[in-house]
Amino acid sequence: MHPHLEILLEIQDLKTQRRELEETGAEREVQETVFGLGIDGALGQIDEKIVEMLETLPPPVRNRYNRIAARQTRAVVPVIRGTCYGCFVQVPTALASDADRNEEVRSCQSCGRFLYLID
Ligand SMILES: [Zn+2]
Repeated sequence: MHPHLEILLEIQDLKTQRRELEETGAEREVQETVFGLGIDGALGQIDEKIVEMLETLPPPVRNRYNRIAARQTRAVVPVIRGTCYGCFVQVPTALASDADRNEEVRSCQSCGRFLYLID
């Protein structure tokens, strides 16, 4: 997989983790005990890591990511059987059946989200 695509997926995973931390308000106390640094501290660390990782991406990829992430929960989506799972539009066959799958950073022409191919 292209290293930029890997970073994008990791950032997305961190954001999911962040959302889950925020949403588990009822377990907050328990988690604070476990983490030792409190939820706010944990969120802060995730935010720092996201910024750090975004900075490793070339500006065009980073800017595109920021544009999509501002509007969408998921900026990186899978292509399954030729369909973009962000907007559920068929992606061009050439893109969906590329021999060098995921060795390039590509985006859906319909919704702009980054794509990764899975079988
Ligand atoms: Zn799409």
